[in-house]
Amino acid sequence: MLNPRAAVRNIPQYHPPLAGRAGLRLDFNENAVGCSPRVLACLRKLTADDLSRYPEREAVETRVAEFLGISDSELLLTNGVDEAIHLLCQTYLDPGDEALIVVPTYSMYRIYMAAAGASVISVASQNNFEFPRAAVLNQISQRTRLVAIANPNNPTGTVARREDLLHIARSAPNAAVLIDEAYFEFYGQTVLDQCREIENLFVTRTFSKAYGLAGLRIGVLAGRADHMHLLRRVCSPYNVNAVALAGLPEALADQCYIQQYVSQVIEGRTRLERTLEASGIQFWPSHANFVLARVGSDAQASAAFVRQMRASGILVRDRTSDPGCAGCVRITLGSREQTDRLLAALLQILEGQPVSEGARS
Ligand code: PMP
Repeated sequence: MLNPRAAVRNIPQYHPPLAGRAGLRLDFNENAVGCSPRVLACLRKLTADDLSRYPEREAVETRVAEFLGISDSELLLTNGVDEAIHLLCQTYLDPGDEALIVVPTYSMYRIYMAAAGASVISVASQNNFEFPRAAVLNQISQRTRLVAIANPNNPTGTVARREDLLHIARSAPNAAVLIDEAYFEFYGQTVLDQCREIENLFVTRTFSKAYGLAGLRIGVLAGRADHMHLLRRVCSPYNVNAVALAGLPEALADQCYIQQYVSQVIEGRTRLERTLEASGIQFWPSHANFVLARVGSDAQASAAFVRQMRASGILVRDRTSDPGCAGCVRITLGSREQTDRLLAALLQILEGQPVSEGARS
Protein backbone atom coordinates (compact mmCIF):
# COMPACT_ATOMS: atom_id res chain seq x y z
CA MET A 1 0.00 0.00 0.00
CA LEU A 2 1.25 3.47 -0.87
CA ASN A 3 1.59 5.73 2.16
CA PRO A 4 2.67 9.36 2.32
CA ARG A 5 5.50 10.46 4.61
CA ALA A 6 4.43 10.78 8.24
CA ALA A 7 4.99 14.55 8.03
CA VAL A 8 2.43 14.78 5.23
CA ARG A 9 -0.16 12.72 7.11
CA ASN A 10 0.02 15.23 9.94
CA ILE A 11 -0.25 18.43 7.92
CA PRO A 12 -3.24 20.54 8.93
CA GLN A 13 -5.59 21.15 6.02
CA TYR A 14 -6.02 24.62 4.57
CA HIS A 15 -9.36 25.13 2.85
CA PRO A 16 -9.36 28.17 0.61
CA PRO A 17 -12.54 28.33 -1.43
CA LEU A 18 -11.38 27.33 -4.90
CA ALA A 19 -14.67 28.11 -6.63
CA GLY A 20 -17.84 30.18 -6.37
CA ARG A 21 -16.52 33.54 -5.15
CA ALA A 22 -19.19 35.63 -6.85
CA GLY A 23 -19.86 39.19 -5.68
CA LEU A 24 -17.65 41.93 -4.28
CA ARG A 25 -14.64 39.94 -3.12
CA LEU A 26 -13.42 41.48 0.14
CA ASP A 27 -12.37 38.10 1.52
CA PHE A 28 -8.82 37.40 0.27
CA ASN A 29 -6.98 40.72 0.48
CA GLU A 30 -6.66 40.96 -3.29
CA ASN A 31 -6.81 44.23 -5.19
CA ALA A 32 -10.59 44.57 -5.49
CA VAL A 33 -10.56 46.49 -8.79
CA GLY A 34 -7.82 44.64 -10.66
CA CYS A 35 -4.41 45.42 -12.08
CA SER A 36 -3.27 48.46 -14.04
CA PRO A 37 -4.87 48.67 -17.51
CA ARG A 38 -1.34 49.00 -18.87
CA VAL A 39 -0.59 45.45 -17.68
CA LEU A 40 -3.68 44.11 -19.43
CA ALA A 41 -2.80 45.94 -22.66
CA CYS A 42 0.65 44.40 -22.54
CA LEU A 43 -0.69 40.89 -21.95
CA ARG A 44 -3.13 41.23 -24.86
CA LYS A 45 -0.15 41.58 -27.19
CA LEU A 46 1.27 38.17 -26.27
CA THR A 47 1.70 35.84 -29.23
CA ALA A 48 1.72 32.06 -29.65
CA ASP A 49 5.48 32.32 -30.01
CA ASP A 50 5.77 34.00 -26.62
CA LEU A 51 3.87 31.13 -25.05
CA SER A 52 5.60 28.31 -26.89
CA ARG A 53 8.97 29.00 -25.26
CA TYR A 54 9.99 28.15 -21.73
CA PRO A 55 9.82 31.36 -19.71
CA GLU A 56 13.01 33.40 -19.35
CA ARG A 57 13.22 34.93 -15.89
CA GLU A 58 16.54 36.74 -16.03
CA ALA A 59 15.75 40.09 -17.66
CA VAL A 60 12.69 40.58 -15.48
CA GLU A 61 14.69 39.72 -12.37
CA THR A 62 17.14 42.47 -13.30
CA ARG A 63 14.23 44.91 -13.69
CA VAL A 64 12.75 43.96 -10.30
CA ALA A 65 16.18 44.16 -8.64
CA GLU A 66 16.61 47.71 -10.01
CA PHE A 67 13.18 48.61 -8.70
CA LEU A 68 14.04 47.30 -5.22
CA GLY A 69 17.53 48.81 -5.25
CA ILE A 70 19.34 45.49 -4.86
CA SER A 71 21.44 43.37 -7.18
CA ASP A 72 19.88 40.58 -9.23
CA SER A 73 21.98 38.00 -7.40
CA GLU A 74 20.15 39.03 -4.21
CA LEU A 75 16.70 38.14 -5.47
CA LEU A 76 14.60 35.35 -6.91
CA LEU A 77 11.22 35.69 -8.61
CA THR A 78 8.84 33.08 -7.25
CA ASN A 79 5.44 31.61 -7.97
CA GLY A 80 3.88 33.92 -5.41
CA VAL A 81 5.19 34.35 -1.89
CA ASP A 82 3.83 30.87 -1.23
CA GLU A 83 6.61 29.37 -3.31
CA ALA A 84 9.19 31.55 -1.57
CA ILE A 85 8.09 30.15 1.81
CA HIS A 86 8.12 26.64 0.40
CA LEU A 87 11.64 27.08 -0.98
CA LEU A 88 12.96 28.39 2.33
CA CYS A 89 11.50 25.35 4.08
CA GLN A 90 13.02 23.00 1.50
CA THR A 91 16.41 24.68 1.76
CA TYR A 92 16.80 25.07 5.51
CA LEU A 93 14.60 22.56 7.33
CA ASP A 94 15.54 18.98 8.12
CA PRO A 95 13.02 16.69 9.83
CA GLY A 96 12.98 17.47 13.55
CA ASP A 97 14.32 21.02 13.18
CA GLU A 98 12.36 23.74 14.88
CA ALA A 99 10.52 26.40 12.91
CA LEU A 100 8.91 29.34 14.62
CA ILE A 101 5.80 31.39 13.86
CA VAL A 102 3.80 33.99 15.78
CA VAL A 103 0.08 33.22 15.79
CA PRO A 104 -2.43 34.06 14.54
CA THR A 105 -0.72 34.38 11.18
CA TYR A 106 -0.75 33.30 7.55
CA SER A 107 -1.66 29.59 7.39
CA MET A 108 0.83 28.49 4.76
CA TYR A 109 3.90 28.96 7.00
CA ARG A 110 2.83 26.10 9.21
CA ILE A 111 1.87 23.90 6.28
CA TYR A 112 5.18 24.15 4.42
CA MET A 113 7.17 23.86 7.65
CA ALA A 114 5.25 20.75 8.69
CA ALA A 115 5.61 19.27 5.19
CA ALA A 116 9.39 19.51 5.56
CA GLY A 117 9.09 17.48 8.79
CA ALA A 118 9.94 20.38 11.08
CA SER A 119 8.50 20.81 14.51
CA VAL A 120 6.47 24.02 14.35
CA ILE A 121 6.59 26.22 17.44
CA SER A 122 3.71 28.69 17.66
CA VAL A 123 4.30 31.73 19.83
CA ALA A 124 1.06 33.46 20.83
CA SER A 125 0.71 37.18 20.21
CA GLN A 126 0.26 39.38 23.24
CA ASN A 127 -2.97 41.13 24.15
CA ASN A 128 -4.32 43.05 21.21
CA PHE A 129 -2.11 40.98 18.93
CA GLU A 130 0.96 42.97 19.89
CA PHE A 131 4.19 41.40 18.72
CA PRO A 132 5.54 39.07 21.46
CA ARG A 133 9.21 39.99 21.18
CA ALA A 134 10.32 38.47 24.51
CA ALA A 135 8.42 35.22 23.95
CA VAL A 136 9.90 34.81 20.47
CA LEU A 137 13.42 35.41 21.78
CA ASN A 138 12.72 32.89 24.53
CA GLN A 139 11.85 30.18 22.02
CA ILE A 140 14.92 30.61 19.85
CA SER A 141 17.42 27.80 20.35
CA GLN A 142 20.24 26.04 18.52
CA ARG A 143 17.55 23.94 16.82
CA THR A 144 15.63 26.91 15.41
CA ARG A 145 16.26 26.85 11.68
CA LEU A 146 13.47 29.03 10.31
CA VAL A 147 11.43 31.94 11.67
CA ALA A 148 8.58 33.36 9.57
CA ILE A 149 6.94 36.65 10.49
CA ALA A 150 4.42 38.54 8.39
CA ASN A 151 4.81 42.30 8.77
CA PRO A 152 2.11 43.63 8.55
CA ASN A 153 0.59 40.44 9.85
CA ASN A 154 -2.36 38.60 8.33
CA PRO A 155 -5.13 38.33 9.65
CA THR A 156 -4.55 41.00 12.31
CA GLY A 157 -3.10 43.90 10.26
CA THR A 158 -0.75 44.61 13.19
CA VAL A 159 2.98 45.23 12.86
CA ALA A 160 6.19 44.48 14.73
CA ARG A 161 8.76 47.21 15.30
CA ARG A 162 11.70 47.21 12.94
CA GLU A 163 14.22 46.96 15.78
CA ASP A 164 12.42 43.92 17.20
CA LEU A 165 12.53 42.13 13.84
CA LEU A 166 16.21 42.90 13.36
CA HIS A 167 17.02 41.89 16.92
CA ILE A 168 15.28 38.55 16.40
CA ALA A 169 17.20 37.94 13.18
CA ARG A 170 20.49 38.69 14.95
CA SER A 171 19.51 36.44 17.86
CA ALA A 172 18.85 33.42 15.65
CA PRO A 173 22.02 33.10 13.56
CA ASN A 174 21.33 29.43 12.74
CA ALA A 175 17.90 30.22 11.37
CA ALA A 176 16.66 31.73 8.15
CA VAL A 177 14.52 34.65 9.34
CA LEU A 178 11.81 35.55 6.84
CA ILE A 179 10.05 38.88 7.09
CA ASP A 180 7.04 38.54 4.81
CA GLU A 181 6.17 41.99 3.47
CA ALA A 182 3.20 40.89 1.35
CA TYR A 183 1.32 44.04 2.48
CA PHE A 184 4.30 46.41 2.20
CA GLU A 185 2.56 48.89 -0.14
CA PHE A 186 -0.12 49.61 2.48
CA TYR A 187 2.42 50.09 5.26
CA GLY A 188 5.51 51.61 3.69
CA GLN A 189 8.13 50.26 6.08
CA THR A 190 10.63 47.57 5.22
CA VAL A 191 13.69 45.72 6.48
CA LEU A 192 14.90 44.97 2.95
CA ASP A 193 17.79 47.40 3.42
CA GLN A 194 19.18 45.12 6.16
CA CYS A 195 19.55 41.95 4.06
CA ARG A 196 23.21 42.69 3.35
CA GLU A 197 24.00 43.47 6.99
CA ILE A 198 22.17 40.60 8.62
CA GLU A 199 23.35 37.39 7.03
CA ASN A 200 20.28 35.22 7.75
CA LEU A 201 17.57 37.77 6.91
CA PHE A 202 15.15 37.22 3.99
CA VAL A 203 12.34 39.46 2.77
CA THR A 204 9.41 38.60 0.51
CA ARG A 205 7.10 40.85 -1.47
CA THR A 206 4.14 39.91 -3.62
CA PHE A 207 2.34 41.23 -6.68
CA SER A 208 -0.89 39.53 -5.53
CA LYS A 209 -2.12 42.36 -3.32
CA ALA A 210 -1.63 46.04 -4.23
CA TYR A 211 -0.64 45.16 -7.81
CA GLY A 212 -3.76 43.10 -8.47
CA LEU A 213 -1.94 40.13 -10.02
CA ALA A 214 -2.87 37.27 -7.66
CA GLY A 215 -3.96 35.19 -10.66
CA LEU A 216 -0.54 35.42 -12.29
CA ARG A 217 1.22 34.03 -9.20
CA ILE A 218 4.29 36.16 -8.86
CA GLY A 219 6.35 37.26 -5.88
CA VAL A 220 9.92 38.07 -4.90
CA LEU A 221 12.30 36.57 -2.38
CA ALA A 222 15.32 38.68 -1.42
CA GLY A 223 18.31 37.76 0.71
CA ARG A 224 22.08 37.59 0.67
CA ALA A 225 23.51 36.56 -2.70
CA ASP A 226 25.23 33.40 -1.38
CA HIS A 227 21.95 32.15 0.13
CA MET A 228 19.94 33.04 -2.95
CA HIS A 229 22.40 30.99 -4.97
CA LEU A 230 21.54 27.93 -2.86
CA LEU A 231 17.80 28.57 -3.04
CA ARG A 232 18.05 28.59 -6.82
CA ARG A 233 19.29 24.99 -6.67
CA VAL A 234 16.00 23.93 -5.10
CA CYS A 235 13.82 26.07 -7.34
CA SER A 236 12.34 24.95 -10.64
CA PRO A 237 14.03 26.79 -13.53
CA TYR A 238 10.57 27.68 -14.87
CA ASN A 239 8.78 28.47 -11.62
CA VAL A 240 7.39 31.78 -12.89
CA ASN A 241 5.27 31.60 -16.02
CA ALA A 242 5.71 33.60 -19.23
CA VAL A 243 2.48 35.59 -18.81
CA ALA A 244 3.53 36.80 -15.35
CA LEU A 245 6.99 37.71 -16.67
CA ALA A 246 5.46 39.62 -19.57
CA GLY A 247 3.19 41.70 -17.34
CA LEU A 248 5.51 42.46 -14.45
CA PRO A 249 7.71 45.21 -15.97
CA GLU A 250 4.59 47.14 -16.98
CA ALA A 251 3.08 46.66 -13.52
CA LEU A 252 6.23 48.11 -11.95
CA ALA A 253 6.30 50.96 -14.44
CA ASP A 254 2.78 52.10 -13.58
CA GLN A 255 3.43 53.27 -10.02
CA CYS A 256 0.74 55.96 -10.40
CA TYR A 257 -1.85 53.22 -10.52
CA ILE A 258 -0.51 51.59 -7.36
CA GLN A 259 -0.35 54.89 -5.51
CA GLN A 260 -3.88 55.91 -6.33
CA TYR A 261 -5.22 52.47 -5.39
CA VAL A 262 -3.24 52.32 -2.14
CA SER A 263 -4.45 55.77 -1.12
CA GLN A 264 -8.08 54.73 -1.67
CA VAL A 265 -7.52 51.60 0.42
CA ILE A 266 -5.93 53.57 3.25
CA GLU A 267 -8.74 56.13 3.20
CA GLY A 268 -11.29 53.28 3.20
CA ARG A 269 -9.48 51.60 6.08
CA THR A 270 -9.85 54.76 8.18
CA ARG A 271 -13.54 55.03 7.27
CA LEU A 272 -14.17 51.39 8.15
CA GLU A 273 -12.27 51.70 11.43
CA ARG A 274 -14.23 54.83 12.37
CA THR A 275 -17.51 53.10 11.59
CA LEU A 276 -16.55 50.07 13.68
CA GLU A 277 -15.48 52.31 16.54
CA ALA A 278 -18.72 54.30 16.42
CA SER A 279 -20.65 51.03 16.48
CA GLY A 280 -18.75 49.68 19.49
CA ILE A 281 -17.25 46.79 17.53
CA GLN A 282 -13.79 45.71 18.59
CA PHE A 283 -11.17 45.89 15.83
CA TRP A 284 -7.40 46.12 15.59
CA PRO A 285 -5.97 49.19 13.85
CA SER A 286 -4.55 47.86 10.62
CA HIS A 287 -1.48 48.64 8.53
CA ALA A 288 -2.61 46.44 5.64
CA ASN A 289 -5.49 46.39 3.12
CA PHE A 290 -7.88 44.69 5.53
CA VAL A 291 -9.28 45.06 9.04
CA LEU A 292 -9.93 42.30 11.56
CA ALA A 293 -13.09 42.95 13.59
CA ARG A 294 -14.83 41.02 16.34
CA VAL A 295 -18.47 41.02 15.27
CA GLY A 296 -19.62 38.76 18.11
CA SER A 297 -18.36 36.48 20.82
CA ASP A 298 -18.22 33.18 18.94
CA ALA A 299 -18.18 31.26 15.67
CA GLN A 300 -21.94 31.52 15.30
CA ALA A 301 -21.80 35.30 15.36
CA SER A 302 -19.03 35.56 12.76
CA ALA A 303 -20.72 32.96 10.52
CA ALA A 304 -24.00 34.91 10.70
CA PHE A 305 -22.19 38.13 9.79
CA VAL A 306 -20.46 36.52 6.81
CA ARG A 307 -23.85 35.16 5.67
CA GLN A 308 -25.54 38.53 5.96
CA MET A 309 -22.74 40.21 4.05
CA ARG A 310 -23.00 37.57 1.35
CA ALA A 311 -26.72 38.25 1.10
CA SER A 312 -25.84 41.83 0.18
CA GLY A 313 -23.37 40.60 -2.40
CA ILE A 314 -20.15 41.10 -0.39
CA LEU A 315 -17.68 38.35 0.54
CA VAL A 316 -15.69 38.72 3.77
CA ARG A 317 -13.60 36.09 5.56
CA ASP A 318 -14.52 34.32 8.76
CA ARG A 319 -11.40 34.09 10.96
CA THR A 320 -13.08 32.70 14.05
CA SER A 321 -10.88 29.56 14.07
CA ASP A 322 -7.61 31.49 14.29
CA PRO A 323 -6.00 31.65 17.74
CA GLY A 324 -7.47 34.55 19.72
CA CYS A 325 -9.94 35.39 16.94
CA ALA A 326 -13.25 33.92 18.19
CA GLY A 327 -16.11 35.81 16.53
CA CYS A 328 -13.76 37.70 14.20
CA VAL A 329 -14.05 38.46 10.50
CA ARG A 330 -11.46 39.94 8.18
CA ILE A 331 -12.65 42.58 5.75
CA THR A 332 -10.54 43.64 2.75
CA LEU A 333 -10.68 47.25 1.56
CA GLY A 334 -10.97 48.21 -2.09
CA SER A 335 -11.80 51.38 -4.04
CA ARG A 336 -13.74 54.36 -2.66
CA GLU A 337 -16.98 53.16 -4.26
CA GLN A 338 -16.46 49.66 -2.94
CA THR A 339 -15.95 51.05 0.55
CA ASP A 340 -19.20 53.06 0.19
CA ARG A 341 -20.97 49.83 -0.64
CA LEU A 342 -19.27 47.93 2.18
CA LEU A 343 -20.17 50.55 4.79
CA ALA A 344 -23.78 50.73 3.61
CA ALA A 345 -24.13 46.96 3.99
CA LEU A 346 -22.31 46.98 7.31
CA LEU A 347 -24.54 49.67 8.80
CA GLN A 348 -27.63 47.85 7.61
CA ILE A 349 -26.49 44.66 9.32
CA LEU A 350 -25.54 46.47 12.51
CA GLU A 351 -28.91 48.19 12.64
CA GLY A 352 -30.50 44.78 12.34
CA GLN A 353 -32.38 45.63 9.17
CA PRO A 354 -33.06 42.86 6.68
CA VAL A 355 -30.41 42.96 4.01
CA SER A 356 -31.92 44.25 0.81
CA GLU A 357 -31.03 44.38 -2.84
CA GLY A 358 -30.47 48.11 -2.23
CA ALA A 359 -27.09 47.41 -0.70
CA ARG A 360 -26.02 45.75 -3.93
CA SER A 361 -26.23 48.79 -6.13
N1 PMP B 1 2.01 36.11 2.87
C1 PMP B 1 0.97 36.65 3.50
C2 PMP B 1 1.16 37.30 4.83
C3 PMP B 1 -0.30 36.59 2.90
O1 PMP B 1 -1.36 37.12 3.53
C4 PMP B 1 -0.45 35.97 1.64
C5 PMP B 1 -1.78 35.87 0.92
N2 PMP B 1 -2.90 35.80 1.65
C6 PMP B 1 0.66 35.42 1.04
C7 PMP B 1 1.88 35.52 1.68
C8 PMP B 1 0.58 34.71 -0.27
O2 PMP B 1 0.94 35.57 -1.29
P1 PMP B 1 1.10 35.08 -2.79
O3 PMP B 1 -0.20 35.29 -3.47
O4 PMP B 1 2.20 35.94 -3.32
O5 PMP B 1 1.51 33.63 -2.76
